[in-house]
Amino acid sequence: MTAIELPTIPEPRPANAPPYTHVMAKPTGAICNLDCEYCFFLSKEALYPGSPFRMADDIQEAYIKQLIETQQAPQVTIAWQGGEPTLMGLEFFERTIELVKKYARPGMQVDHTIQTNGTKLDSAWCQFFKRNNFLVGLSMDGPPQMHDMYRVDKSGDGTHDKVLAAARKLQQYNVDFNILCTVHAGNADHPLEVYRYFRDEVKTDFIQFIPIVERATQEMLPIANRGWGDQNLPTETELQEIPVAKSSKRPLYTLDGSLVTERSVRPEQWGQFLMAVYDEWVRHDVGKVFVQMFDSALGSWYGTGASLCIHRETCGDALALEHNGDLYSCDHFVEPKYFLGNIKEDHLLDMVASDQQRKFGNDKRDTLPKYCLECPVRFACHGGCPRNRFIQTPDGEDGLNYLCAGYKSFFTHIDHPMQLMAALLKQGRYADEVMGILEREEASDVSQEASVADKPKKKRRRRRSNK
Ligand code: SF4
Ligand code: SF4
Repeated sequence: MTAIELPTIPEPRPANAPPYTHVMAKPTGAICNLDCEYCFFLSKEALYPGSPFRMADDIQEAYIKQLIETQQAPQVTIAWQGGEPTLMGLEFFERTIELVKKYARPGMQVDHTIQTNGTKLDSAWCQFFKRNNFLVGLSMDGPPQMHDMYRVDKSGDGTHDKVLAAARKLQQYNVDFNILCTVHAGNADHPLEVYRYFRDEVKTDFIQFIPIVERATQEMLPIANRGWGDQNLPTETELQEIPVAKSSKRPLYTLDGSLVTERSVRPEQWGQFLMAVYDEWVRHDVGKVFVQMFDSALGSWYGTGASLCIHRETCGDALALEHNGDLYSCDHFVEPKYFLGNIKEDHLLDMVASDQQRKFGNDKRDTLPKYCLECPVRFACHGGCPRNRFIQTPDGEDGLNYLCAGYKSFFTHIDHPMQLMAALLKQGRYADEVMGILEREEASDVSQEASVADKPKKKRRRRRSNK
């Protein structure tokens, strides 16, 4: 029984509601047991001064009920993240399973996911995940020295060994998990080391790479550069210049400013990172290792579109729910400007279908600068996520993605193998055949180069100058 009267699903279904809605729920808000330096989500605590940061029973029930009602499709994903969701304790998630049983429609497919730093995972958690078929996202940034550079606990100590222990535990219990690796100043120059570590040492076959881009204004930059953890709170002098909410320890991170922190990946570095990993993957691991960015890009070449929202034409179907029922346009836009309402007062479906949210999603397409509109890889890139569109195009127009240079080189670089894979799939064949095709192509290139090298120098020079 819910303690309060909750909003009911709008009837008829709003015409512009998407058939499927994804929500990332944050049952502990921004609260985490770690202090990762680049995690500006820690600053979101400032949105709710004095809050206990624990999702109450009535909110949990309202959320599960409304999320299920919102889906037109016979499938729903219940996704938890943070902060650190495991701080809610297992009982909270056991209750989630009960609520899903109560509200799921007959025959509905229910997928459970959780994103965690892994430090709390023990046998009981892993047994629970296995029993309920959870997909676990484990945050890990590579080998120890790279992971521990920024992913530290409240004492400032590295957390790599605990996360690796969590991976081993998940493997012991045969739980499906993937690695979520952020790419930043500490690991971006070591793409192969990072990728091979996950593939060969951690032995995972599902990897997501996320670029760290921490925006800042001139005033915020020194504070942001020191990191978002409790060890690096602003000084009294800094707080006089940047006022923070009462009882809050640090300023709220917002998507303002066109500067980035020292930890942020540089655009070209992001492109180089992706290209190096792709080259290794496309020659050895297609069909064996799943790299989310590559799989998503293949959708663009195949014609079904990217699976990643950042590379789709529009977005707005993936929202964020705070611990108290507040709903925001997206997990990356948890700030007052993008607040949609609270599920205790408005039904999730009403807010998803609202003009405000539809505009949010369509703006991704409608605000692209001319430079993007004319870009040869726009079909795969679509300008990236709006949160990173804070630089100017070469001709001075606002709204270009900070990562543009990296995206452009990456999407250009992968064109040929992607075309091959898309063609294979369209013929009903397997994408992994691309590895043999590339090997044969490269062997033939080498033999052609060798035969050119055998010819008289004069002829080779002439040939070169003819081009
Ligand atoms: S704002 Fe960015 S992260 Fe959010 S849904 Fe749109 S593309 Fe995805
Ligand atoms: S590569 Fe750059 S120019 Fe091209 S669509 Fe992406 S962000 Fe725009």
